[in-house]
Amino acid sequence: MKAPSIYLKPGRDSSVRRQHPWIFSGAIDRQDTGIVDGDIVRVHDAGGTVLGCGFFAPDNIAVKMLHWGAGFDPSKWINERIGQAVQLRERLGLFADPGTTGFRLVHAEGDCIPGLIVDLYGRTAVLQTHASGTRRLRNEISLALQLCLGERLSTVFHKEVDHKDADAGGEYLLGTGAERVFCENGNTFRVDWERGQKTGFFLDQRENRKLLGALSRGKNVLNCFSYTGGFSVYAGRGGASAVTSVDSSASALALLQENINLNGIQNHRSVDADCLQYLQHLDSAYDVIVLDPPAFIKHRGALRGGIKGYETINHLAMKQIAPGGLLFTFSCSQLLSRPDFADLVARAALRANRSARVLFELRQGPCHPVSLFHPEGEYLKGLVLEIR
Ligand code: SAH
Repeated sequence: MKAPSIYLKPGRDSSVRRQHPWIFSGAIDRQDTGIVDGDIVRVHDAGGTVLGCGFFAPDNIAVKMLHWGAGFDPSKWINERIGQAVQLRERLGLFADPGTTGFRLVHAEGDCIPGLIVDLYGRTAVLQTHASGTRRLRNEISLALQLCLGERLSTVFHKEVDHKDADAGGEYLLGTGAERVFCENGNTFRVDWERGQKTGFFLDQRENRKLLGALSRGKNVLNCFSYTGGFSVYAGRGGASAVTSVDSSASALALLQENINLNGIQNHRSVDADCLQYLQHLDSAYDVIVLDPPAFIKHRGALRGGIKGYETINHLAMKQIAPGGLLFTFSCSQLLSRPDFADLVARAALRANRSARVLFELRQGPCHPVSLFHPEGEYLKGLVLEIR
């Protein structure tokens, strides 16, 4: 394909050669005129050698690489990459398991398609485009999904990205009237991809929820930042003696109640509250507490405040959890490193005057793969701690 060119400064091609997909604007020496957001550009080193092709954006990350080397055909590329993403999920056994019909099908750079998220709920694919380049290709992406999934797909919804994570709207690229229920490890969930947060459900926590389910029998469980009840349902089905879910979104709690009912869970109550306030004075001695807040750190400027926020909720939970209780604590802030997360959790334990032991280190599930060449793709960190 004929694409406009950008040329890197001398010595600024090494990360591209190491297969890192991002080129920062400061690495660009010069570029053809008329390049706009979402264009596919050909990337050259300072000597003029073609390194590959990528999406251009007028941002700090100026190019996201799609392909290395010469020769690039966008339609062929998208079909191949989506085909490979489907193959990986087949390899993971996800398509063969009737107990799990919801999982991530495309995880952006982790599946070598920067700027594209596709979550599958039964026969509905919900896609979010985080780059103008993938946004422009949305119809080709929908066709590629149809080609690769065949009968396994009936509906494609393109969900707009809203930075406040709420009701952002979107459009159907295929079908409309799909069943909005899917299964995860044998549990049933209703999902509202039109009005819900992100694509409607947080599929990255699947394995971690399973672990919670296995450790909940007979326990009094508190799920903070519960959203539509992912962790609550697993705790309930895992035999918890009582489950309390806390969230400040009334619409999330309405759907949570449906999910509690769908799974026949008794002994559940939900609390519409700010978790920070709720955690100040807990009304019960909880044996298990889950803290899965939204990303407190969305940009570098929010690092200090965000770390403080995580430390506060962990401190409050640790201070009050029953002796020998289990704390499932998470951060989905990509900018917070795993060691820094562990440090702030340790500070919280010291302040709470409790001892804490790490039982499990958790991460995003394998349908959210991370390229070794793009460690930034790792974002979800979790610890399961026993608190004395
Ligand atoms: N654990 C959930 C996902 C959590 S998403 C799951 O497994 O599905 C984060 C949730 O935190 C959202 O539902 C949002 O409404 C809620 N939230 C954000 N800030 C909050 C606050 N201060 N108090 C209570 N809930 C909050």
